[in-house]
Amino acid sequence: MALGIYIHVPFCLGKCSYCDFVSYRWVHDKVDAYLEALAKETRMRSKELSGNNRQVESLYIGGGTPTCLKREEILFVVKNCSFHFDLLPGAEISLEANPGTVSMEKLEFLYSNGINRLSIGAQACQEWLLKLLGRKHSFEDVQDAVRSARKAGFKNISIDLIFGTPGQTTGDWNESLQRVIELAPEHISAYGLHLAAGTPLNERVSKGELEVLEEEIWLEMYEEAIEVLAAAGFEHYEISNFALPGRQCRHNLLYWRNLPYLGLGPAAFSYLNNRRFGNEKSLEKYIQKINEEKPAEAESETLPQRIRMAETVILGLRLLKGIDLNEFALRFGKRLEEVYPGQIDKFVRLKLIEYDGKNVRLTRKGLAVSNQVFVEFI
Ligand code: SF4
Repeated sequence: MALGIYIHVPFCLGKCSYCDFVSYRWVHDKVDAYLEALAKETRMRSKELSGNNRQVESLYIGGGTPTCLKREEILFVVKNCSFHFDLLPGAEISLEANPGTVSMEKLEFLYSNGINRLSIGAQACQEWLLKLLGRKHSFEDVQDAVRSARKAGFKNISIDLIFGTPGQTTGDWNESLQRVIELAPEHISAYGLHLAAGTPLNERVSKGELEVLEEEIWLEMYEEAIEVLAAAGFEHYEISNFALPGRQCRHNLLYWRNLPYLGLGPAAFSYLNNRRFGNEKSLEKYIQKINEEKPAEAESETLPQRIRMAETVILGLRLLKGIDLNEFALRFGKRLEEVYPGQIDKFVRLKLIEYDGKNVRLTRKGLAVSNQVFVEFI
């Protein structure tokens, strides 16, 4: 089965106030050592895999802000991967890009060298919200980035938005949705803000400087996204993701279907041969381990079938089409209804899950409270 590869580029122009991803302030001195280690890690991992297992159907370069890197450095990441792995014809090659770090020339160069999908972080269209979130760009920069990407040839653009930020109104959210729709992307991700411990935004909430939105407003915003994006022709295919027909993110579909992927770079996670492992989060430790010719892993776990089944259910229920019951039975040698009879009956009764004998999926009501459903499968 073909793999997905995720590459973590751990640099950003600065830290956003809500961010708990592993990223460092971009300092060019560190980039060479990072790229050298990444190249070695790619080679080491490819040697562990043989033949068909080296076939790759999607490559996702994320971070961080990969577009902090120079265009030749980004190309090096792609070329290095295609040198050690077999990138299949038509593979999806996605690059996360932040507005303000992508010129027309850079995008033209990247598109002409095989990157065929761009994921642009917009988050909101109001300047005060962008400032509160600690973003380093304006909404005009978002518009410029999308225009440049189109001129460069990109035909597959995704835009990220965040809702549920303290102080945000449903009117603000509707405006952000409308202005992003006007940019005519093929894909939109609408994430509810997660207040992560240790982030400046969370600290301000803890100190009482900012107030979290009431759950009712949060749900209203989520419903609004579903309605507004459907009216604009976007298919709601995953809890937080919407796409024009045929434009679902193939890489992320691998995660939601709980299929194998390889993560490279600091803090990257992999799931291969029923084993999940995560690399060192610290860039220094990552580089040191790789330079000592050791795997960069900091944690590893072989997952028993019970856990693999639970994860397949939890991830699969994120998809609006739900879990294919035959596929589940073929994979695990057991029918899902046999493994979780109590949970399925309970959630069907509560109208949080729909079960038709072929698929099991969350209902519209279930989507809004998905976490409450997921915990009962663990
Ligand atoms: S751009 Fe993304 S990874 Fe970088 S600090 Fe902001 S949220 Fe975090």
